[in-house]
Amino acid sequence: MRILIFGAPGVGKGTQAKILSTKLHVPHISTGDLLRRAVSKKTPFGLKAKELIDNGNLVPDDLMGNIISEELNDPKTREGFILDGFPRTLPQVGILEDIFKKVGIDSYSVIILEVKDDVLVQRLSLRRMCSACGNIINLNYLKDDSKCPSCGSRNTFVKRKDDDEFVVRNRLKIFHDQTEPVVKYYREHSRVITIDGMLPVEDVTQKIMNHLP
Ligand code: AMP
Repeated sequence: MRILIFGAPGVGKGTQAKILSTKLHVPHISTGDLLRRAVSKKTPFGLKAKELIDNGNLVPDDLMGNIISEELNDPKTREGFILDGFPRTLPQVGILEDIFKKVGIDSYSVIILEVKDDVLVQRLSLRRMCSACGNIINLNYLKDDSKCPSCGSRNTFVKRKDDDEFVVRNRLKIFHDQTEPVVKYYREHSRVITIDGMLPVEDVTQKIMNHLP
């Protein structure tokens, strides 16, 4: 099963990608997670990308292309994958199509999640990341706001720099300017399902599952 999942920051695509990855037994490839890992390891690439990410700007297409090419050539993705965060620009669409051609992929499902900007700004103000395992949570849905429900660590929640309101507004602008044309392209060239991201998480998952071949 090969899935491309799209939506503005905070729409819930990472949450759905993780659930689908478990349900369908295919890896979740999140470009945001891959970049944050490179930043925390302080690799030369991570050091270069850090400022761009912290300010909500996009990492250059050629660098992103190298990362995705490596992932899609990895045998772990042979049976399928959930691609979350790529492509985000029209040139990245071209890069992905070239990689798909080279590795012999000709079919995939496209999921688009939608939520209004103001709701996203509100959601992201309540979003925290566990600095121990990278798990993302929303403070509204936690019973114990000192304990990570994923790894059990205590007092490890931090606010991502790029979840500050000013940066979020920049990320939303970039989404509308650069990623919406990508979404439009897939609407015109593939069978896509558009889902209201305000629905409960389980309902969104069910709608996605119903859409999959
Ligand atoms: P995300 O976790 O998907 O919201 O990504 C966090 C940040 O990583 C983005 O705001 C960008 O700075 C960077 N990033 C992730 N994916 C891409 C991509 N496909 N192209 C360029 N930058 C990206």
